[in-house]
Amino acid sequence: MNSRDKDRKKTVESVLESRLSGRVRGLSAYSVPHHDCSVKLDGNESPFPLPPDVAAKVAEETSRLELNRYPDPEAHDLRALISEISGFPQEGIILGNGSDEIIGMLVTAFAGGTGKVVCPAPTFSMYRLSGLALGATILEPELDEKFDLDMGSMRALIEEKDPDIIFLASPNNPTGNAYSEDRIMEIIELTGGLVVVDEAYADFSGQNFLPLVKTHGNLVVMRTLSKIGFAALRLGMLFAGEGIAHEVNKVRYPYNINSLSQSAARVVLESREFIAENIQLIVRERKRVFSALSEMPGVEPFPSDANFILFRVTDANSVFEGLIERDVLIRNFNRPGRLENCLRVTTGTPGENDAFLAALRGALSL
Ligand code: PMP
Repeated sequence: MNSRDKDRKKTVESVLESRLSGRVRGLSAYSVPHHDCSVKLDGNESPFPLPPDVAAKVAEETSRLELNRYPDPEAHDLRALISEISGFPQEGIILGNGSDEIIGMLVTAFAGGTGKVVCPAPTFSMYRLSGLALGATILEPELDEKFDLDMGSMRALIEEKDPDIIFLASPNNPTGNAYSEDRIMEIIELTGGLVVVDEAYADFSGQNFLPLVKTHGNLVVMRTLSKIGFAALRLGMLFAGEGIAHEVNKVRYPYNINSLSQSAARVVLESREFIAENIQLIVRERKRVFSALSEMPGVEPFPSDANFILFRVTDANSVFEGLIERDVLIRNFNRPGRLENCLRVTTGTPGENDAFLAALRGALSL
């Protein structure tokens, strides 16, 4: 014990004041505002429940688990199945408690302490939050006017700062668009650092960088089950070269994928036909909602390759509140800058989308 502390009364305040990491003091927790609305289109989840036969199989399989035992630390069977489905070698697959956890592992392994992390903005906030918590310097070049990568600033950053990790969410959240493939390729070729293509929403777009991981040593791809029907399982996937996966695995917490998730994920992926059907339906509905938004005066939707749409109105806060009054919850991104007066709506079931469009007309007095 430090002698100067011996006689002092220890309080929560005193320990926070004297010992809390300055990196953490300045952060704000990732927060999801809670509102009880029956139409919930704020979380980029899938609106579809499990088909009853698959739900029954999940119940049966999970009831057989020995909950007194730790999970398989390597999630061997699940990784083998993901390898079979993706055609990617199992040795290069790392699973995370959501891709959120994988973001933390990548920053820890490649940029923790003094590293530099690039995340073109606006984008998903966890790159910044994980980076700051782990002591990295965060560089946030602005996306261009179409929310695509601004190659002028990306080239300059790579040249001048030589970043350790570049996070590219494609399709991006909250803007919805996939970045141009040739721009992503140029970045992979220019930088000596790690390029993480976060394909959380790739199932709703035509883009797929997975095959390139084998040929481009500094490219890794992240995917997740959260957007395609299984957010509750918290299962993210990293696809990386074997050497990279080996190193990242050292900073993975033991038993990070619990037994219930390992078992349920195996069952749903074994019965995966229904997942592709739901994705098709969501893409059709996204196009329908986009057309309807385009026709509303005072509403500017941005093109989307994901399962949600970002749109601008003249007074986002009042529209957001007006929707809640009409029992519809979406996400308010209104803040000064590029997202001023922007709202984001997740694509729901046809009925939920109709309810949202009607509520929006009401909130806009159309
Ligand atoms: N990446 C992006 C771009 C996201 O939007 C999200 C979820 N909001 C995540 C990663 C995290 O997904 P998961 O649920 O797998 O942690």
